[in-house]
Amino acid sequence: MRMIDHHYINGQFVKSNGTEMQELINPATKQIIGKVTLGNEKDAQMAIAAAKEAFITFSKTTVKERSEMLQRLHDSIMAKVDALTQAAIEEYGSPFSGSHGRTVYAAKTCLYAQESLKHFDFVSYVGKTKVILEPLGVIGAITPWNANYTHICNKIAPAIATGCTIVVKPSELSAIQTQLLMECIADANLPVGVINIINGTGAVVGAEMTRHPDIAKISFTGSTNVGKIISKSAVDTLKRLALELGGKNPNIILDDADLSTAIPMAVVIGFSNTGQACHAGSRLLVPEHQLDEVKKRIKEAVASTKIGNPQEKDTVLGPLVSQRQFDTVQRYIQAGLDEGAELVAGGLGHPDGLEKGFFAKPTVFAHVTSEMTIAREEIFGPVLSIISYKTDEEAIQIANDTIYGLAAYVSSSNLERARNVASKIIAGRVLINKAAHDDPFAPFGGFKQSGLGRDSGVYGLEEHVEPKAILGYET
Ligand code: NAD
Repeated sequence: MRMIDHHYINGQFVKSNGTEMQELINPATKQIIGKVTLGNEKDAQMAIAAAKEAFITFSKTTVKERSEMLQRLHDSIMAKVDALTQAAIEEYGSPFSGSHGRTVYAAKTCLYAQESLKHFDFVSYVGKTKVILEPLGVIGAITPWNANYTHICNKIAPAIATGCTIVVKPSELSAIQTQLLMECIADANLPVGVINIINGTGAVVGAEMTRHPDIAKISFTGSTNVGKIISKSAVDTLKRLALELGGKNPNIILDDADLSTAIPMAVVIGFSNTGQACHAGSRLLVPEHQLDEVKKRIKEAVASTKIGNPQEKDTVLGPLVSQRQFDTVQRYIQAGLDEGAELVAGGLGHPDGLEKGFFAKPTVFAHVTSEMTIAREEIFGPVLSIISYKTDEEAIQIANDTIYGLAAYVSSSNLERARNVASKIIAGRVLINKAAHDDPFAPFGGFKQSGLGRDSGVYGLEEHVEPKAILGYET
């Protein structure tokens, strides 16, 4: 049992001022594995003050110095990669391969930011005017529980690269992982106050950050609903905002796609991270005349997907993160049944033999229409909705019939045709014949209510600077 009662502020582990505690539960077993003391407004204020003070000197550091810091942070995370992976498996139930991959990726975000710096000009000239890209100031990062390390590092790396300091409030469901990451940050020996991390709830610590005048920008990853609350709060101090929000991502299988690859890929895309991924392809659009064939193949693919103990290396699907998430998924499955969708695989309840943890059955519905709740709302669980279409134009229309616009997928044996469809989809990212988001320099972010701004590569760096023009700089 881990008792976590410290924040990381100004280069030190500082005892929380909060008194409220929250249990940390292993979702695969429902055992209590730790407790975290939730911080309060005072903790947030101390962290913000430390970051503000550190900004004075950190903003003047050179690219070379910051590049070296990013390397040190990468190395210190990699030095603890096994312990970090283990904590992710225990605290959040994500199976070994995904947990390990995401931990390594988190470390690598530092190297990607380092590389992006090589392609980023902080100074340029427009005629006789000098334009300097100045670091924004203190970044307030608020992150979700899914892929805790990746989200935190995705916020920290571009902040360090550009000379910003940062206060991070990770999800209160990820405190053990966060504690280990704090230790890595301490090991990296960065200037004090550059990175500060606070345990606490969104309603207390998060809300204090979004209204605090000394935070220049809120970089948020989480649900669309909370993104809207944060936007409203941040407007009073006109903070910059980056919002990486939810999705209801379409995966379009065109009628010339090779189903022997497109269907297994649809299961990977749909059930990525047990469906707890913002980029999960939760709407599968298939040609009407192939629906029966698709249903048969997808049933087989789901049946051969291993769900169970996340510690086992060949497990693909683990439990959901919490009782709350399990209940939410059950409610959506019930809505699918009530609204008349056809159950192809899975359904309500736990898979056989997995009653102990928050395991939900990987579920597939067919004959889903765009009006149904399961086609419109982000479920964040292993529920895939098959929607059939007649023409490519109709597929594009259905794909775009959503308030979201985060990611989309297209499968086809004709690249030109897939490119044409991709060009018409309203989403921040479209993947052709692939499931893996494996270009770390490609911008990531949403159109419409999937968010504001972009992470990754030089796009992520640009979001951390403010252009200052000095006219008359040259005579
Ligand atoms: P959430 O929105 O409930 O919480 C995210 C964070 O916001 C947490 O740290 C929470 O404590 C904090 N928060 C809650 N209320 C707040 C408030 N009033 N003020 C300030 N902060 C507040 O999301 P979650 O359940 O942790 O994560 C799942 C959601 O995250 C899904 O909607 C998913 O799509 C989204 N997500 C998006 C991306 C992306 O890159 N677009 C990536 C991963 C997850």
